[in-house]
Amino acid sequence: MRLLVTGGAGFIGRALANRLTREGHEVWVIDDLSVGDEATLDPAVLFTRGDVNDVPKLWTLFQGVDCVFHLAARVSVPQSALYPREYSAVNVGGTVSVMEAMRDAGVGRVVLASSGAVYGEQPVQPVHEALLPYPDSPYAVSKLAAEHYVHTIGALWGIETVCLRIFNAYGPGQQLPASHWPVLPRFLSQTLGGGSVVIYGDGKQTRDYVFLDDVVDALVSAAITEDVSRLTMNIGTGVGVSVEELVVAVEQAAGRRAHMLRNVQHAGGVSRLCADISLATAKLNYRPASELEAGLRLTIERDSRFAGLVDS
Ligand code: NAD
Repeated sequence: MRLLVTGGAGFIGRALANRLTREGHEVWVIDDLSVGDEATLDPAVLFTRGDVNDVPKLWTLFQGVDCVFHLAARVSVPQSALYPREYSAVNVGGTVSVMEAMRDAGVGRVVLASSGAVYGEQPVQPVHEALLPYPDSPYAVSKLAAEHYVHTIGALWGIETVCLRIFNAYGPGQQLPASHWPVLPRFLSQTLGGGSVVIYGDGKQTRDYVFLDDVVDALVSAAITEDVSRLTMNIGTGVGVSVEELVVAVEQAAGRRAHMLRNVQHAGGVSRLCADISLATAKLNYRPASELEAGLRLTIERDSRFAGLVDS
C-alpha cells in the first residue's frame, strides 16, 4: 500500500512510519520539523519537510495514497493555554486542510490521532466513547474539533474516517521539550540520572499509560480493518496508574531508587483518567501487549539516552 503519515518525524509518527516501511509499504512523511527529527526515519521513508496547512503540497503528496495517518499537531497542553490561536490553526485548520487535499487527490481513508485529553474531568472511570467530553485546555478542544471535522467532512465527501483517542503514550524516542516534559521520560531521566523525581500535587492523580508499540498496532489496524468508518475509539490499557505507583514502576524497571520531591501546589490536569478499551478490542481486535513495567524496560533498552545511564 502507499501510505502517508503527517507528523511522521515525531515520537509516534516515526515509529509508525518505520514499522510500515519494514512491512514493505511505500511510506511518505510530511512534517514541518518543529519538533520532529528526520534523521530518526528509516532511509526508505520518503520524507518532505512541509506544513499541514500547505494544501497544494499536500495535494501533490497525496496522489495515489491509500490512507493518510494524520498525526501532525502541536501537542503541549500548557503551551496551548498560552497560544490557543496557533493550536487551533495547526490542529484544527491543519486537519481541515488535510481533508480538503484528500478529497481533491481521491484518498479513501484517514486515521486521526486524537487524544484521551478530550474527556476532561469525568465522574465515571474508565471513560468510554459515549460520554460527553469536557475538554479543559485549548489542546483538548482542538483535538475534539478535529475529530468532528474529520467525521463530518468524511461523511459529506465519502472518505472513510477513524479517530483514535490515544491516552498517555510512552516509549523510546519521546522528546523532552522544555515547554512540557511528558511525565514518563522525565521520571526515567531523573531516576536513571540520579536526580530528584518531582511529584506535583498529592501523587494520587491517575493516568492510563500505553506503550508506543501498542499505539502503533492500533493505528495500523485502524487503517486496514473493514467496517470501522466513522468510529472514535479509545487507545489505552484500561489500567489507571497513580503518580506514586508510576514512580515505583519506574524504580523497578530502572533498578534504582528515586529521590522524591513533592510540590503539592501545582497538580494540573484532571484527577483521574483511564480508558475503557472495549470498543477498540471489539472493532480492531486491539489488545495492548505491554504492561507498564515491561513497557518501561523496553523503553530503557531501546532508548540510548536511558540505556547509556544504566550502563554507566
Ligand atoms: P510529536 O510532537 O512528537 O509529533 C508531532 C509531529 O508533528 C512533530 O514531528 C512535529 O514536528 C509535527 N508538526 C507539528 N506541527 C506541524 C505542522 N504544522 N505541519 C507539519 N508537521 C507538524 O507528538 P506525538 O506524541 O508523536 O503525537 C502525535 C499525535 O498523537 C499528535 O496528534 C498528538 O496530539 C497525538 N497524541 C499523542 C499522545 C502522546 O501521549 N504522545 C497522546 C494523545 C494523542
